[in-house]
Amino acid sequence: MTEQEQWSAEDELALFDAIDRWVDEAVKPIAQHHDQADEYPHELVEQMKELGLFGATIGQQYGGLGLSASAYAKIVIKVSSAWMAPVGIFNSHLILASAIERCGTDEQKEKYLPRLATGELRGGIALTEPNAGSDLQAIRTVARKDGDDYVVNGSKTWITNSLNGNVLLLLVKTDPDAEPRHKGMSLFIAEKGDGFNVGKKLKKLGYRSIDSCEVNFDDYRLPAANLLGGVEGRGFYQTAGGLELGRINVAARGCGIAEGSLKMALEYSLDRKAFGKPISGHQAIQLKLAEMACQVEASKLLIESAAKKYDANERCDLEASMAKYFATEAGVFCANEAMRIFGGYSYSVEYEIERFYRDAMLMCIGEGTNEIQRLIIAKQLIGRHQE
Ligand SMILES: Cc1cc2nc3c(=O)[nH]c(=O)nc-3n(C[C@H](O)[C@H](O)[C@H](O)COP(=O)(O)OP(=O)(O)OC[C@H]3O[C@@H](n4cnc5c(N)ncnc54)[C@H](O)[C@@H]3O)c2cc1C
Repeated sequence: MTEQEQWSAEDELALFDAIDRWVDEAVKPIAQHHDQADEYPHELVEQMKELGLFGATIGQQYGGLGLSASAYAKIVIKVSSAWMAPVGIFNSHLILASAIERCGTDEQKEKYLPRLATGELRGGIALTEPNAGSDLQAIRTVARKDGDDYVVNGSKTWITNSLNGNVLLLLVKTDPDAEPRHKGMSLFIAEKGDGFNVGKKLKKLGYRSIDSCEVNFDDYRLPAANLLGGVEGRGFYQTAGGLELGRINVAARGCGIAEGSLKMALEYSLDRKAFGKPISGHQAIQLKLAEMACQVEASKLLIESAAKKYDANERCDLEASMAKYFATEAGVFCANEAMRIFGGYSYSVEYEIERFYRDAMLMCIGEGTNEIQRLIIAKQLIGRHQE
């Protein structure tokens, strides 16, 4: 493809086939071992580079694939239906890249996007702090101007890709006394260096293998040239501007978990016999399978509807929140129902459904909890009704 070309339907299908093959041949076979051992899948990272996943949504002029949100969501569903965790390696990275592409200066785009697209630089986003998750305006990490630099002090937590990556999109207060609070917030492109200290990988219920760590900044110096967009005080809106795409992506991860759970439960129900027939022949199991299948399909449609609006540059905050809320709850629901269909074997690590069950809930928490999503949906509904 040439530099600015749109993906044809044929090219997209060829890419989806390549992803399917990779998932079957490389992701599935290692998923359960790596999850149980909490081992980082370094081998997948090299393959992700070859597939172009680190540049999936980055513009072609910067060496990325320039995929639409809709095509990218399909890829995320495919990978997550086998193992959700490795998606975090390129998804958080792409949220960082998307912020630079949307809000960065020309110099920042030229400097970072080509190296992010190849995976030479890998990263994530550092918003959450021990005392502030949903309420991001309560963060305490401060960057103070000092000559041509900023000096950063504070702590972030749960930061995905912080150990194995080398650059983070860092949300700080440049004016801690500003009122309203968001006016004092800024984003920086923060490369590892002196004073950028990453703690041990946190032990987690699910989403294992992937590095989620505390990161402490102790007099960490950042060049002023790394202030995203070059102007202080825009960090909160720059973060919020990436939420729609982020939510579509998390919805896709939830949908993948739902679809993978359904597939496993269906296969198991055809194989497992009770009272003289496969359990798929019992109506109680059929009702579960039917409900799961409806939730998977409905999730896909909500994701597609939000992604299409996003790709058409239309407002999609309501649709992205609906997709995020519904598809991630579908992930929890389907993993839960699949556990029941597997009966006692659901508790065996010989079967992968226990991993889906442990991974599913995280999707309801990240990228804005589902409580917050419903508040956004209601606010939009009421606001639009009054317009
Ligand atoms: C494995 C993992 C990986 C993560 N990766 C990253 C990462 O890479 N980068 C990053 O920055 N963060 C990351 N996070 C953090 C994640 O984004 C936060 O956990 C999430 O935003 C929720 O914040 P919190 O945990 O502080 O919960 P809180 O904000 O304390 O919320 C606790 C509860 O209160 C509810 N609540 C809060 N405010 C309201 C309100 N106004 N109305 C109704 N209910 C409300 C919430 O819905 C929730 O049920 C990760 C978390 C985990 C577990």
